[in-house]
Amino acid sequence: MSDRRDVQVAIDGPSASGKSTVARAVARELGFLYVDSGMLYRALTRAVLRRGRRGDDTDAVVETMRLCRWDMQVEDGAVWLSLDGERVGPELRSPEVAEAVSDVAAIPEVRHFIVEKLRSTRAFGPLVMEGRDIGTVVFPAAAFKFYLDADPAERARRRLRDMAGMGAVAEMEQVQRSLERRDRRDRTRAEAPLQIALGAEVLDTTSLTVDEVVRYIVGRVRAGLARA
Ligand code: C5P
Repeated sequence: MSDRRDVQVAIDGPSASGKSTVARAVARELGFLYVDSGMLYRALTRAVLRRGRRGDDTDAVVETMRLCRWDMQVEDGAVWLSLDGERVGPELRSPEVAEAVSDVAAIPEVRHFIVEKLRSTRAFGPLVMEGRDIGTVVFPAAAFKFYLDADPAERARRRLRDMAGMGAVAEMEQVQRSLERRDRRDRTRAEAPLQIALGAEVLDTTSLTVDEVVRYIVGRVRAGLARA
């Protein structure tokens, strides 16, 4: 690690494994930028749905991707995306977007385009990026790689809690089924499927608190940086 500004912490894992909460807190603790890579796939999905097209309509998705203006900016310790001048945020977590996003994310042209956008964020400084292919494809040479997992029922409970926090009501069974569907598609797609990156540390967070996971990762990164 010759350049202290060029440090990436990759955090991958399935939906609702705790990645977002953990990655955001790790970034804050370390003073690194937080990057939510899923935001880019979700933003494109919403743009496609707004045009009345489907996530599995490859031509419509690729055309929308090319027509949109993509800007990445830094604000409040995070990298944000503006799509056609509109900053994207938590409203992207709607059930409609969640159902269609894995189809959009399975399209090779989309992956190549978004991976390049994500790679460009390293110029902003040291960062913590969460997603499905950060340690495998986006930053395979990242100095720090983690893969978070938790058992499916616990992940469904966490998603339900997040949704309740945003005022949405849903059935546990329905949430679990939707997570399973998305995971299956993310794990079995041909291009950059969700998998454990070479050299990644796997953390089963089922019975760990967010704080415990954050402290562990921050400790590993600090120790690694001190040795470098
Ligand atoms: O992380 P989040 O749940 O917001 O991701 C939404 C979807 O975007 C995932 O289910 C996956 O299909 C896609 N995604 C991806 N690669 C990433 C991040 C997200 O394929 N690095």
